Amino acid sequence: MDSTERLDYWQSLADKALRGEMLTRDEALAVLRAPNTELLAILQAAFRVRRHFFGVKVRLNMLINVKSGLCSENCGYCAQSVVSKAKIDKYGLVDKETILQGAEKAYQLQAETYCIVGSGRAPSDRELQQIIEAVREIKQRYPMRVCLSLGLVNEEQAARMKAAGVDRYNHNLNTSAGHTPALVTTHTYQDRVHTVRSVAKAGLTGCSGCLVGTGETDDDLYDLACELRALDVESIPVNSLHPIPGTPLAGKMELTPGRCLKILAFFRLMCPAKEIRISGGREVNLRSLQPLGLYAANSIFIGGYLTTGGSSPEADYAMIADLGFEIDTGKEQVLSQGDTGEAQAPVAGTATASGGQVE
Ligand code: SF4
Repeated sequence: MDSTERLDYWQSLADKALRGEMLTRDEALAVLRAPNTELLAILQAAFRVRRHFFGVKVRLNMLINVKSGLCSENCGYCAQSVVSKAKIDKYGLVDKETILQGAEKAYQLQAETYCIVGSGRAPSDRELQQIIEAVREIKQRYPMRVCLSLGLVNEEQAARMKAAGVDRYNHNLNTSAGHTPALVTTHTYQDRVHTVRSVAKAGLTGCSGCLVGTGETDDDLYDLACELRALDVESIPVNSLHPIPGTPLAGKMELTPGRCLKILAFFRLMCPAKEIRISGGREVNLRSLQPLGLYAANSIFIGGYLTTGGSSPEADYAMIADLGFEIDTGKEQVLSQGDTGEAQAPVAGTATASGGQVE
């Protein structure tokens, strides 16, 4: 193909995505395997789709790690796992005031979503209850989406969260069914799928994504994207491995910025109308090409990750402004969905632009 034909080919994939059709395996693999000389043409195609659904808005998410380390599971990429020797802070569930302070910070940072994340295979009843009580208060105070990520949950637990005002639940599939045993053996891919289905049945919005750079193949990525599409999750965090010393995957640096950008474009074309978030590992893997990621993705984390730091909020605000993009606080959307029907003015201050690895 000459250069015009190649441009037309990538645009034909965008046309397909905009028509709601799924890319074939060969088409998707062509995106992932394209040489870097095709990168801008691929991003241009992905941007057409991103712009159709999200304009030039960028959603910000802020994480709080409400329970760190001490996990029974053996996920090879995670600094909090039972097999990790990484030097991280380890603590049990923080108190309600700390969770509320995090919400205030998220609001001040213009986060659309406050993500309350706790380590562990699954939350205990007591832990879930404590977190739910904090969420009730957050939803009274802020017009902000609340997402929980607490491990494996069943439908009854998800229904309790929904009743308390939780909007979204995160549980990443991370990789394909075939590659999962290379990353974790203390729970299965099906356990993870079951949790994603349970939260959907309870009426929570689903958030589930991937972790790339762990030795997965392009076919694994295609299988995963097909599963996420079938599960119809609204939000897809794309984590790239930040190999933390002391974890089994320490030293595994197989990603390049170009590869990461092609993966982001691939997810945009596979799941066109979904919130694609550049997540943990953004700074170490995309490096100086981070801004280009926002031509495919429409969401980032602000203020760092669970066990690793990230760009400063000021640097991220500047990146968004330099692109000519805008922060999407999502207030109108959150309110119109009835998520915060009782939302009141924030208890303190107003939001201004003064301003690791997720798992
Ligand atoms: S990813 Fe979650 S379940 Fe796995 S080791 Fe880390 S905290 Fe535990």
